[in-house]
Amino acid sequence: MKIKLYNTFTRKKEVFKPLKSDYVRLYDCGPTVYWYAHIGNMWRYLVSDFLRRTLKYNGYKVKQVMNITDVGHLTEDDLAADTGTDRMEIAAKREKKTPKQIADFYTKAFFKDTQRLNILRPHVVPIATEHIKEMIELIKKLEKKSYAYWAGDKYFVYDISKFKDYGKLSGKKLADLRSGARLEAVPGKKNPFDFALWIKDPKHLMHWDSPWGVGYPGWHLECSAMSMKYLGPSLDIHTGGEDNIFPHHENEIAQSEAANKKRFVRFWLHVRHNLVEGAKMSKSKGNVYLIQDLVDKGYDPLAFRYLCLTVHYRKNLNFTWKSLESGQKALNKLRQQVGEWKPGKKGVSEFEKRFLEAINHDLDMPRALAVVWDLVKSKYPESEKKASLLKFDQVLGLDLSGYRPAKPTKKVKELVKKREKLRKDEKWQEADKVRKQVKKLGWQVEDTAKGPKLKPVS
Ligand SMILES: [Zn+2]
Repeated sequence: MKIKLYNTFTRKKEVFKPLKSDYVRLYDCGPTVYWYAHIGNMWRYLVSDFLRRTLKYNGYKVKQVMNITDVGHLTEDDLAADTGTDRMEIAAKREKKTPKQIADFYTKAFFKDTQRLNILRPHVVPIATEHIKEMIELIKKLEKKSYAYWAGDKYFVYDISKFKDYGKLSGKKLADLRSGARLEAVPGKKNPFDFALWIKDPKHLMHWDSPWGVGYPGWHLECSAMSMKYLGPSLDIHTGGEDNIFPHHENEIAQSEAANKKRFVRFWLHVRHNLVEGAKMSKSKGNVYLIQDLVDKGYDPLAFRYLCLTVHYRKNLNFTWKSLESGQKALNKLRQQVGEWKPGKKGVSEFEKRFLEAINHDLDMPRALAVVWDLVKSKYPESEKKASLLKFDQVLGLDLSGYRPAKPTKKVKELVKKREKLRKDEKWQEADKVRKQVKKLGWQVEDTAKGPKLKPVS
């Protein structure tokens, strides 16, 4: 069955086909490892995971590469201006560690979180500081082809006016960029959006020798250099957050296509950013949550994964504690159902077809989840339903097969006994109080002919 993906480049849904038969070259812009990744970052990486799993589900071989940025990264506002403060340096000073120690620590933390969310680890995770040589080679190529010049004596920059297709991804026009720039231009830049390839700065905490003096590479460079090294000059799919479209991805295209004279990326996939309680996440609002914050409140990290499955990636994910709670309940219920049913080999083809249609339609995970619940409620034999649901879990990643039915604690059992006694004594009000207590502990008491039965709260 065909996979359709929304391509930012053409602004429409297109049938996806890899360049080389059944082999997909997938590249994701990875994290800058100077701090913990928050739930918004994770939402973006979850979508990449849904994509990779969907491709695999369709029988494709996937090679996924994701970079780790551990060098010379500027704060977002300063990115295009190439000025400002380096976040790795700030972190190193703050924590009294070397940039390498900072990078190692937060890279580890990042993968701990992705693992908790069942995000498959990319096949190759190149680290920027280990690829300075490749970046220098790329700059040399661009210099040789006259795409680079010195802006003052510190910045060796890319000349966007030389790349005639500049702006083709974001739809921005060169003339508008020149006149409409609100950025404080670096003296000597022809266009304020000409971006640094190399920054000469021997005092920078991390620096390397290069033909352009001792310094460090520009941020945009690493994705071009590393994707080329591990995936070749043309990628099938490149993902990122919507804020990466300009200037980062535009600059990646400019560098890569100028160097290789080949189309860099065929499908650009961008994830909308997320909100928290309807508002933008910001440190000042105190609503920047980490996966650990969810765990500390007693949630399963996969409840967050479930929540992310309920929203299409081209819509804003609005995180609320209430929605996370619903996600947790739904996940519990689903696992319980699957866990209680007897296993079987044969699935329900009607539903498997519908599920595939949903995920192949621009990763419509909300629709896929609806298919899941329709199947759960359907009249098919339980073993068949279970077989299909476990198959779907290859994409959903909700760990449905690892489920062990929850067991009520000693305390819960004691309370149920107490309630039984109160009921026998016809102390209804007190019995009801105990029932509520039991519910708070996650269990529902159902009175049957054979006595009370416990069910996890759903
Ligand atoms: Zn990138």
